[in-house]
Amino acid sequence: MVVRMRKNRSQTAKRRSNHAISGQRLTKCECGASRMSHRACPECGKYNGKVVIDIVAAAKRTARRQKRKQTELRASGQSEETKEKETTQAV
Ligand SMILES: [Zn+2]
Repeated sequence: MVVRMRKNRSQTAKRRSNHAISGQRLTKCECGASRMSHRACPECGKYNGKVVIDIVAAAKRTARRQKRKQTELRASGQSEETKEKETTQAV
């Protein structure tokens, strides 16, 4: 190894600080889906046995937001359809 490639202790410690990090802790919800601990279940919206998220309303909200985003992109001429055309033309 050349001196130029050698890293100082700080950089080595920063790299190694991530070695102990493990994956997400997933637990089973009462509905059967896996969820992160201390978080509401994304499938049924329950936390600690109580419904805390209205799943149907949340799904409607995300659908509405996506639709609105699409229309805004189309209005500005940057929709994904036009982007795809540009990429195909470039190739
Ligand atoms: Zn659930």
